[in-house]
Amino acid sequence: MAALWMLSVSLLLGAWVIDSFISPSQPPLLNFGHLVFFDPSKVHTPSTKEEILSIVYDALENGHHIRVLGSGHSRLAIALSEDVMVSLHKYRGIFKFDKAASQVTVKGGTTIGEVVRYLDERGLALPSLPAITDQTITGAISTATHGTGVEFGNLATMVTGLELVTGEGETLSLSEANHPIIFKAALVSMGLLGVITKVTLQCVPAFRLQESLEPLSLDDCIRQLPTLATSGHHVKLWTELYSGTCAVIRMNRTEQEVTGNGVMRILDIKWRLMEPFLFLSSWFQSQLPSIMRFIASYINIFPAYSLVDKSYNVFVPTPYFPSNLQTEIAVDRSKCTDAFQLLRNMVLDNRIPVNLITEVRFVRSDDIWLSPSYQRDGCYLTLMLYNPSDKTVSSYFSAFYQELVRMNFTPRVHFGKYFDLEPHQLYDAYPRLPEFLKIRQELDPSGLFLNQLMRTTFGL
Ligand SMILES: Cc1cc2nc3c(=O)[nH]c(=O)nc-3n(C[C@H](O)[C@H](O)[C@H](O)COP(=O)(O)OP(=O)(O)OC[C@H]3O[C@@H](n4cnc5c(N)ncnc54)[C@H](O)[C@@H]3O)c2cc1C
Repeated sequence: MAALWMLSVSLLLGAWVIDSFISPSQPPLLNFGHLVFFDPSKVHTPSTKEEILSIVYDALENGHHIRVLGSGHSRLAIALSEDVMVSLHKYRGIFKFDKAASQVTVKGGTTIGEVVRYLDERGLALPSLPAITDQTITGAISTATHGTGVEFGNLATMVTGLELVTGEGETLSLSEANHPIIFKAALVSMGLLGVITKVTLQCVPAFRLQESLEPLSLDDCIRQLPTLATSGHHVKLWTELYSGTCAVIRMNRTEQEVTGNGVMRILDIKWRLMEPFLFLSSWFQSQLPSIMRFIASYINIFPAYSLVDKSYNVFVPTPYFPSNLQTEIAVDRSKCTDAFQLLRNMVLDNRIPVNLITEVRFVRSDDIWLSPSYQRDGCYLTLMLYNPSDKTVSSYFSAFYQELVRMNFTPRVHFGKYFDLEPHQLYDAYPRLPEFLKIRQELDPSGLFLNQLMRTTFGL
């Protein structure tokens, strides 16, 4: 036992030392997790709208292709350009604040974290946030990035207006009142319709959240899934399939005073201690079920706790989370239990080496064409793997997606994470896709904003 702990501490230190020597370049040419290397022939970092326009005109004139890079947090090469890459990290900041309407307009390179901190100083907040806030607002809305809560939509649903520079170099101001059709297409568009240079967000009064973690058995969790989903304002489930454990994390609005977050530091240490075992599990896959049961019982990764803090501190979990590959698949919330059961059976029956938790979150339906919650309340299953082989990725991520298709769950993927699908499967899942592609053709007739992945995915 002592030897195992020694090994875990040395592996942990090793990982930390390696990480300290990798300093991020500006703009990032490696995506988050260093899984995709960007190697464009040219990188532009404009700091004014005029510079953005001249990059577009120049690319049009010279037959180049452009992709816009946010913070590079997407898992696949969706932001990758083999040609010209535009990073807006110098085109950031608050453009306009409308106190009376509780709206803020930000430049395209602004991160979610920068926006929420600015809002907090003015007594405002965004109603729901994802698990980190280092992404740019524009990158996040472009992939329908979301938090959790049956009454809360993804980030793109908070947008009341945006400015888009199209593939013909034209600037469009889009909102429900102005070009409402293009607006619905552009909100979640993976950079396919042009460069989003400005975004206006509808804010709400700042609020505090009480977060609590309730440990449950996985069987109880699955049995009670529909009621658990509505048992708080923002509910998410962290499950571990081999040990049969589950954590129900509820975040509820509260007037209570802010508590210390010492409990998060304990959780942080626990998750760090877990990493060496995960590392071992990726080499000794046949021992994986025992390793996961060991982690669950000895490290107790789901301890009960409760804390109160400002909403954005609670939405964004502070504990360390081992870097991992993820795919996220949304199904109709009414089919959540069946989809989760299907996943569990598939993993346990085939002894798939799943060495991290599986997360379940909930997102309210919307009317944004390429949103995974388009016209249906969503149950989002996040499948995670630590240090996986290609074989595991396809026997788990791709196999589960294909099984959901086969069983008529009409799954929709998160475009900011791993996906591997046929274009015709997109047509089945997104009824407005033909109209989206028609608008894409009109706004970008020369395919200025296409890259290889987008061509393959959308069959262009
Ligand atoms: C640690 C981690 C935690 C995460 N947590 C969550 C979570 O809780 N919920 C969730 O839903 N997702 C989550 N994600 C996924 C993440 O939110 C998305 O991948 C998001 O798109 C990343 O934003 P970005 O700024 O890094 O954009 P990038 O990854 O750089 O780009 C994403 C897409 O947006 C396009 N784009 C970027 N900027 C513009 C622009 N100005 N105009 C036009 N197109 C543009 C790019 O071309 C690309 O197609 C997480 C990712 C990581 C790495």
